Amino acid sequence: MSTTFTPSLLQLDGLQVAIGDKTILQSITLNVAPGELVVLMGANGSGKSTLGLALAGHPAYHVTQGSARLAGADLLAMEPQERARAGLFLSFQAPPEIPGVKNNLFIRTALNAVRAARGEEPQDAFDFLGSARTAATQLGLPDAMLGRPVNDGFSGGERKRNELLQLAMLRPRLAILDEIDSGMDVDGVRAVVELVQRLRSEGTAFVVVSHYLQLIESLQPDTVLRLADGQIAERGDLALAQRIARTGFVQTPELAEA
Ligand code: ADP
Ligand code: MG
Repeated sequence: MSTTFTPSLLQLDGLQVAIGDKTILQSITLNVAPGELVVLMGANGSGKSTLGLALAGHPAYHVTQGSARLAGADLLAMEPQERARAGLFLSFQAPPEIPGVKNNLFIRTALNAVRAARGEEPQDAFDFLGSARTAATQLGLPDAMLGRPVNDGFSGGERKRNELLQLAMLRPRLAILDEIDSGMDVDGVRAVVELVQRLRSEGTAFVVVSHYLQLIESLQPDTVLRLADGQIAERGDLALAQRIARTGFVQTPELAEA
């Protein structure tokens, strides 16, 4: 899939991110087109989650240089909820519990906020429940999970499926999936692939953080990136992910040639 002539949906230019006074990302330059799927790899602690959280607007992650645009709009000038309304979605590596907030109300409120931003009518509770149940069934998430507080008592895999449920309902322009496969069984991983391919065919762009080669191969990425030293150290295609799976992140000349 060539993206050369497609205008970028996400445009990062020299993005630098610090936590406190520690710079984690030095300079990230990246363009992602609608429908494009980028896999982001990198050793533990290389800053993959930092990139997603900074783009989503987590207050602890400070952009100290560079720019980030979504469909031409300045992401960095927006509050987190405005970024979500503009079509950005982040699935957390470790999805938090929100005790006291019912999952169905949480997702419907989020959905109606993004629908309003897209100029669409709100969904009433009845219509929402119908479509949420259908989506939950497709994802192998029991109906009862919709009536419980967000992620309250959910297993690791159920939390990840609940992130996918939000993704399926919100239909964002850009989705960042941070280790969505961790904690998921084989059926869960298959559900990830199906949902990603469906949304991608509708134009959603993806940045997928994963170490899991089988998932990466199934996703048929356009681009694979290796993050190291706060920068994109390597850009390639599936072959880069396959080489990393074979030889690891530590680059030595013999291994790189193997
Ligand atoms: P990855 O997702 O690639 O494993 P992270 O983005 O989570 O890496 O972390 C990058 C670096 O930033 C690590 O050294 C980590 O310890 C540090 N870091 C991440 N989040 C915080 C935080 N909230 N406070 C302090 N340090 C953090
Ligand atoms: Mg991480």
